[in-house]
Amino acid sequence: MNRGRLLLLGGFAALIVSVFFTSGITAQPNTVQQIVPGVWFREGDIKKEGHCNNVIIEMKDYLIIMDANFPSGARLAAADAKKLSSKPIKYVFDSHHHGDHAYGNAVWTEMGATTLAYAGVAQEMKRYEPKRWLETNRPDVKELNRTTAEPPKQTFDTTPFVLDDGTRRVEFHFFGWAHTRGDGFIYLPKEQVLATGDAIANGAFNFMGDGHVANWPKVVDAAGNRQIKHVLPGHGRPGSTEIIVGQGKFMREIYAGVKGLMKAGKSVDDIQKMGMAKTLEAALKFSPQSKNWIGDGLAEQAIVVHEEITQKKPHGEISGGK
Ligand SMILES: [Zn+2]
Repeated sequence: MNRGRLLLLGGFAALIVSVFFTSGITAQPNTVQQIVPGVWFREGDIKKEGHCNNVIIEMKDYLIIMDANFPSGARLAAADAKKLSSKPIKYVFDSHHHGDHAYGNAVWTEMGATTLAYAGVAQEMKRYEPKRWLETNRPDVKELNRTTAEPPKQTFDTTPFVLDDGTRRVEFHFFGWAHTRGDGFIYLPKEQVLATGDAIANGAFNFMGDGHVANWPKVVDAAGNRQIKHVLPGHGRPGSTEIIVGQGKFMREIYAGVKGLMKAGKSVDDIQKMGMAKTLEAALKFSPQSKNWIGDGLAEQAIVVHEEITQKKPHGEISGGK
């Protein structure tokens, strides 16, 4: 097993067991809040359950849910959606292929919903599954008794893909490879709501193993380049454009910081040691605005950047599908 693979699996596991989770000061797991009329944000319990956040969007005759979540998270989100509206859940949008966002797909389709994603999500699943599914040690995944993840039933490859029933326009976007090759966003132009999946998180939740770190801030900028009042991240609390600005800044700074360390001759092992000695954060020279994105996963993230720069290709291509 090479280092890249170890890192990838380590990072994936870390995300699931939420090692990345740091403070939790303002976390409000399992709560639902209305963002604008007919749009709700449900905060997942990442700490205990590894769940992602969900967004519930009410259309004239149906509901759209963002992110399938893990199976247990899917059931919680579906139950809450039922309390909010008697309309059927028609679409469930997978922002990307990771288990905490897409392994609940089969739960939703069994309820009669259509799982929907950018084509890159289905391609990522092909690349990484069934390996990760089989390695996932969670009762809610095992109980589904499936041999692999259920891919999204409907995909689109030109964006934005739009659903507009006269009451609301919902745009599904892909702005490039950041967190994964499939990173999908939802944008509601009238309500100025941007739901981001994990390409933009509010806190130290950036798993980079499948990512393209050099391109990540460009995706963040592209997503942010529109009228936005409300930002609904895949993990962490909702907010406004400060989340977009901070996420972009953190990505640029960790990349530049690692580049600087490499110029000073620092190896992957050096970075690991600096992480353990708690000197890494200072050495990477973050600005105060990046603080919210810095957590226990910092050394691992810095190593991903180091590998991406050394091997001159997106990290997801280094470790992808192995
Ligand atoms: Zn993810």
